Amino acid sequence: MIIDDLAPSLPLGGPGLPQQRRMVTAIPGPRSRDLLERKSAAVAAGVGHTVPIAAVAAGGGIVMDADGNALIDLGSGIAVTTVGSAHPKVVEAIAAQAAQFTHTCFMISPYESYVAVAEALNRLTPGDHEKKTALFNSGAEAVENAVKIARKHTGRQAVVAFDHGYHGRTNLTMALTAKAMPYKSGFGPFAPEIYRVPGSYPFRDGLTGVAAAARAITLMEKQVGAENLAAVVIEPIQGEGGFIVPADGFLPAVAQWCRDNDVVFIVDEVQSGFARTGAMFASELFGIVPDLITTAKGMAGGMPLAGVTGRAEIMDAAHAGGLGGTYGGNPVACAAALAAIDAFENDGLIERAQQIERLMLDRLQELAEVDPRVGDVRGRGAMIAIELADPGTGAPDAALAAGIARACIAEGVIVLTCGTYGNVIRFLPPLAIDDELLHEGLDVVASAIAAH
Ligand code: PMP
Repeated sequence: MIIDDLAPSLPLGGPGLPQQRRMVTAIPGPRSRDLLERKSAAVAAGVGHTVPIAAVAAGGGIVMDADGNALIDLGSGIAVTTVGSAHPKVVEAIAAQAAQFTHTCFMISPYESYVAVAEALNRLTPGDHEKKTALFNSGAEAVENAVKIARKHTGRQAVVAFDHGYHGRTNLTMALTAKAMPYKSGFGPFAPEIYRVPGSYPFRDGLTGVAAAARAITLMEKQVGAENLAAVVIEPIQGEGGFIVPADGFLPAVAQWCRDNDVVFIVDEVQSGFARTGAMFASELFGIVPDLITTAKGMAGGMPLAGVTGRAEIMDAAHAGGLGGTYGGNPVACAAALAAIDAFENDGLIERAQQIERLMLDRLQELAEVDPRVGDVRGRGAMIAIELADPGTGAPDAALAAGIARACIAEGVIVLTCGTYGNVIRFLPPLAIDDELLHEGLDVVASAIAAH
């Protein structure tokens, strides 16, 4: 039992963890290898992993493994530990709530922290209309419920999603998700009445936002029919699909068309929400106001919590008992969220995300200037990516992205890839990372690119 053996010497996570990259073994080291062997024997093969380590502590911009290696974290557990792993306010709130009660089921015996999270979401999400919220456990569950609510409200069934979109791994959200491998292949049949249209991908389609919106709107009108359409579901910056920032004007035009046709405009901010993009919500960057917005990931500092927030008259469309779930809005997760939200609002994290954007874009644009295989540098806040492509043909270079990511991890820097074509390297550092560590992480990325 390697974890038990290590227990007396385990470091505490949080900001007290030394903020230095330190490599004491090759990755994976012997203790990590032991755990990974147990993992492959005990855990279903479908649950993969990117970084071959046994994590034992994390905080600030560091993830530490069981062999004592300290890796620079440019992934935040896929955009979750935005406030930093084991953030002191979050840890304290979790401990205090866990000592009070761990569960009553909000649908059986309601409690205040759920209501307080709903009030915070109603206040913080874009738009000054009257709002209501329902809480769930995961981003996929939030998106499913947003679609349920939109269907009940409109009495219509069709839902439009976009090329390169990602919304989760449940049946309905697989149907909404664009990419077959690894998310959908072999898992059908998928939920009906989902239609896919092209969005805006400036690096690859060269269209203005207005032209891209017109293309999508024509397809919605001709192939679906507004009168059949309950909702449009869209990520303001597409995450898994490749950190695709739509061209100016695209999102407002789609939002306006939805408004004109009584189609519920659902904005999926599961990945982009909560200061990640240098605004509390990415919708603000594009001047759009969602009818319904889905949130999860960064909201609760690492605890599983998700929300659907939106116009009160839409949110109230579902009958009592139609929404919920045993664990949705668990009190420990809600306490964590209230602490994380306090940090987002009061600890300058939005400004920190803006600083990180400038630092990362400057560094990555320098790389693009000297290496034409870095075809595009894009993103907002601490949600930044490079797209790797053949300089002559523009063909996506997934092998290069995978090679660079592997080399970074071997050197102790956690980076993730994404993209429909697998050729995008994405950077999602915790906002708790310091500049020195971020520069060092990017130095490693630069060396890995140069060496490939
Ligand atoms: N929507 C978006 C935009 C996401 O990025 C994700 C997760 N990557 C999901 C939904 C699904 O969230 P979860 O994994 O919590 O179900």
